[in-house]
This record gives sequence, C-alpha cells and structure tokens, in this order.
Amino acid sequence: MNALHTFRIAGIAALITGVCLLAPAQKLKVYISADMEGITGIVHSDQTMSGGDYQVARKWMVQDVNAAIQGALDAGATEIVVNDAHGSMRNLILSDLDPAATLVTGSPKPLLMMEGIDATFDAVMLVGYHARAGTSNGVLDHTISGGTVRSITINGIEMPELGINALAAGCFNVPVVLVTGDRAVCEQTKEILGDRVVTAMVKEGVGRNAAKTLSLEKAHELIRQQAKVAVEKRKEIKPYKLSAPYRFELGYHRSSQSEGAMLVPGVKRIDARTVGIETKDYMEGYNFLRALISLGRDG
Ligand SMILES: [Zn+2]
Repeated sequence: MNALHTFRIAGIAALITGVCLLAPAQKLKVYISADMEGITGIVHSDQTMSGGDYQVARKWMVQDVNAAIQGALDAGATEIVVNDAHGSMRNLILSDLDPAATLVTGSPKPLLMMEGIDATFDAVMLVGYHARAGTSNGVLDHTISGGTVRSITINGIEMPELGINALAAGCFNVPVVLVTGDRAVCEQTKEILGDRVVTAMVKEGVGRNAAKTLSLEKAHELIRQQAKVAVEKRKEIKPYKLSAPYRFELGYHRSSQSEGAMLVPGVKRIDARTVGIETKDYMEGYNFLRALISLGRDG
C-alpha cells in the first residue's frame, strides 16, 4: 500500500465520519396530556381541587408524569412535551418535573387538554385520566365538566375524555399509545381505542370516591414499563379517527342549560336536555363543544 493510497483511504474515512456527524439524529417526539383524577392514590375532589389534600396529591401527579417521561426516554424519546390538563392547568410543580420535558401550563389555552399537539409528534400518552360520566366504580367519573355535562356523544359513541382527545390527536395523525388511570378508564380505553393501546392500571375503584390503589413505587414502576412498551409499539397503533361529518351531542343535567345553548346558530335541540351540532371539521366541533359547555354553566 503506497502513501497516496493510504491518504485516499484516510480521506474517504474522514468523509464518512463527517457525513455521520452531520446526519440528523432520529427524532422521536412524545406528547403527554396529564389529568389528575386518574393519578395513583387520588379518590376525592379534596385532592384534585385546592382542598386540604391537594398539595400532597399534586406531588403524586408529577411523580406519575415523571414515570411516563422515564418510560418514553427508555424507548428513545428525544423530545417530550407535557401539557397540564386538569382544572386550573397549573397543578404540575415545575421544579419537580423531569428536566427532560417541556411543560405547557396554565389556562385557558386554544386546544385545552391537548394544547401543543401537532403533526410533528410520534405518540401521545394520556396520564391520570378517568372514566366518562356515569361509570360504575369509576374514580371521580365525569366528562370535562361534572357540574355541566351528563354525556357527550360523537357519531353515536358516548365518549370519555380519552376518546375526545384521541380524536384531536388523530386530526394530526398521532396515535394515543398509553392511558394510565383506574380499572374503569383502562377498560374504556380498550373499548374505544382498541386492544393495541397500552394501559397502566394504578388503582381499582370500589366506588366513585374509594379505590384499592397500588403503592406509589409499584405504580411508578408499572407506568414507566408500560410507557416504554407503548412508545416502542407506536407504529402498530393507528391514530384514532371517525369519518366526517362529526355529529356532536351534548347532554346537560337540566333543560334550562339547553335553552342557553340554543342561542348559538347551527345548534339543534335533540331533547329537553340534549343539544347537537354537526361539523365537517373535527376541531371546529371540538371548539363548539367547549363553547356549549361554557354556555351551559349558567343554565
Ligand atoms: Zn381533571
């Protein structure tokens, strides 16, 4: 091997190394929407609103979220965005959040529980979610606003929040890969999103305000392990979509609430307590739904 040959080989090797260094690293973006009622150990609204137990419960919330972040990192996530999706949306304590994640905090925000989602994400995880209003043994069961909403159906399917938000993610072609919460929400996940979606059951309701719960340590282990499996399975899980047009039906508790909603053009009265709207665009219907829930608060 002469000197020129050695020089050429060295040059080619340097070129290959350079190309490798310049090649962009494989991106894997994970979006987490974090609610509170399905967090490990939580069973009462004193824990989810600013009652006596709230300060302790919000620490449990950030710990469940951190376990999901760790699982996503184990699966190779390169970017993680966490959206605080409960109540004031200022529950997650930033100083306690895993520094690998970016936090969307505060409200109101345009996409509410799904603020920050877009088509650049590879997977969505719903942490601390709960069953829809009217679920037996569903810990703190409700749909968006317990005081206002009796039921929400979309194209004939009575939806828990996980379905409403999975459809929003589906608009951006992103699949929900993991749901964590009680037994009831895990069952509704499989029923609505299908068997492939991964769940982490951290407690089992024995009433609306009582549950048999895993220890924090066991729950965090489970969430981390299931989050890793879920992100690794992301390509096998289809984004959740229904076909247009979207028929939204909002059931209130009282007929007076429907009367307020009827002031909005395009809204139809389905029965005394139920109003409906049909849209071609899902996110437009989602926004209508939010507006109708706000109007119903005064009825
Ligand atoms: Zn909530």
